[in-house]
Amino acid sequence: MGEFELIRQYFEPIADSFPSAALELGLGDDCAIQRIPADCDLVFSIDTVVEGIHFPKAYPADHLAWRALAAAASDLAAMGAKPVCFTLALTLPTVNESWLKGFSRGLADAAGTFGLSLAGGDTTRGPLTLSLQVHGTVPRGGGTRRSGAKVGDLVCVSGTLGDAGAALDYLEAQPPSDDAKALLRRYHRPCPRLELGQALAGIVTSAIDISDGLLADLGHVLDASGMGATLDLSTIPMSQALRRLKGDQALGYGLRAGDDYELCVTLPRSRWAALPEAIGKHLTVIGTIEAEAGLRLAGGPEPADHLDTGFDHFRSKS
Ligand code: ADP
Ligand code: MG
Repeated sequence: MGEFELIRQYFEPIADSFPSAALELGLGDDCAIQRIPADCDLVFSIDTVVEGIHFPKAYPADHLAWRALAAAASDLAAMGAKPVCFTLALTLPTVNESWLKGFSRGLADAAGTFGLSLAGGDTTRGPLTLSLQVHGTVPRGGGTRRSGAKVGDLVCVSGTLGDAGAALDYLEAQPPSDDAKALLRRYHRPCPRLELGQALAGIVTSAIDISDGLLADLGHVLDASGMGATLDLSTIPMSQALRRLKGDQALGYGLRAGDDYELCVTLPRSRWAALPEAIGKHLTVIGTIEAEAGLRLAGGPEPADHLDTGFDHFRSKS
């Protein structure tokens, strides 16, 4: 099967199934054309995943496609952007049709679920690697940044933390327990907080998606905002499945494990109090922004760091 036949069979149908009114021209020409409404800004970001680095060898192709698009879409969620379309640069070692079938199925599921149209891409041969560029829009001048946290703001996170990172310990479990299955679902099929991110735009002072672990990602917000914070460890939201499986170690996962794709946001106390229930129910207050630089942990002993804090490809291990 040649490159063009492969694109026609596995990728064109996804583009056709989930079109976007914003795409003047979609997959099939030298470029796609996206129309940006006059009152909007284009928000875009690219993410690359490499086999053996970001996902295990022989990882199921349908999960891989979903996870890769979810991770990319999660950056749009953090910015409060409305998802529009994406491009996919796919590097494959060989043409394996059953792999491609699974991959295109997972990609179609994710594209439909997240509201992202496939606008084009590139297909090459080499070690298994995916790069996905996602495009979204925000009202002009909008777009939630990392840099806006202010003294006195509350720090909140969505959902529960630590599940996806803890799931890595159960990838080989045969058969996994119900609790392990719950964690594995969060690893294989993360759900970026696209609607929540848009609902919080204009309300929160900063946002980041938690891809590398709460402490690492909140650290980026504090650096960008020139602030510090204290977290109350007794408030970190964690699932019952994680608590049952990991016991005393659960909090370590909640603080340091990545891949959950929840949001961490900051907002003034008054706005938290006025937040509609439909939005507030997704969030837990875990701390406060302070002028003194650094991240302080209160409300219990800090759990031992048995995980690598935040993923950094170029940091040497000491
Ligand atoms: P060009 O050589 O002009 O860059 P290509 O031959 O690489 O174009 O691609 C042909 C068309 O197929 C383009 O519209 C491109 O966006 C699309 N395409 C190529 N690979 C993929 C892919 N993996 N997923 C989606 N669209 C793709
Ligand atoms: Mg061309």
